[in-house]
Amino acid sequence: MTKVVLESSDSHGKGVFACAPITQGERIMTFSGTLFSHAQTDFNDYHLQVGEDLYLGPSRGPDDYVNHSCAPNSGFKGGLDLVALRDIMPGEEITWDYSTAIDEADFAGFPCGCGAPVCRGKVESFRHLPPLVQQRIRPWLLPYLQDKYFSKQG
Ligand SMILES: [Zn+2]
Repeated sequence: MTKVVLESSDSHGKGVFACAPITQGERIMTFSGTLFSHAQTDFNDYHLQVGEDLYLGPSRGPDDYVNHSCAPNSGFKGGLDLVALRDIMPGEEITWDYSTAIDEADFAGFPCGCGAPVCRGKVESFRHLPPLVQQRIRPWLLPYLQDKYFSKQG
């Protein structure tokens, strides 16, 4: 039974909102879709980087529409499961930090208007974030980024 619903968001078009209380640590949804390489990816359509040269295409479900926040209330745990980082009340928009997935050398980024006190002003590749931010969002990195940046350091 899903606890989220796809709705129009004032700030940035479509968004996903809680329609029931969600408890910290609870799985909200699992992202799905077809896997593509960079060369095969249609960058005009929804896509999520999940590996060095691996992209998840659209599922045409709510997971395509979860917006970014620099102070998100959800994040990935152990793969493509999006879990609540804190208790979430009905009506709150579900957000995750896109920089926990994106890590392209040539990703120009795009402006962020999430409004959080810690807003970075721009959504960027993980590699371009300040080290302190990288450490802060480390627990919710996709596995390929955990392995790439942190496994050798323990
Ligand atoms: Zn922001």
